[in-house]
Amino acid sequence: MGNALVCFASTCMVLDHGNAHNHPCHQCNQTFPTKKKLKDHAKNHKGPFKCHKCFRTFTTSDDKKAHEDRNECSKK
Ligand SMILES: [Zn+2]
Ligand SMILES: [Zn+2]
Repeated sequence: MGNALVCFASTCMVLDHGNAHNHPCHQCNQTFPTKKKLKDHAKNHKGPFKCHKCFRTFTTSDDKKAHEDRNECSKK
């Protein structure tokens, strides 16, 4: 409270935090107010991705999706 600096994403002109309100995720284009939030969010895009049916793991969500599309879960 008091004289704490309040700023709003679109109007913020405070040089101190530069474009601190604009940390876009390059993978899904969501934006985040802080680097930390972006970093936390970015974990969602990193592996390992586990197939919930057969519990195989993949390094990217695309790999997992390809696996699911190929219906490999039933193979043993
Ligand atoms: Zn994202
Ligand atoms: Zn699977």
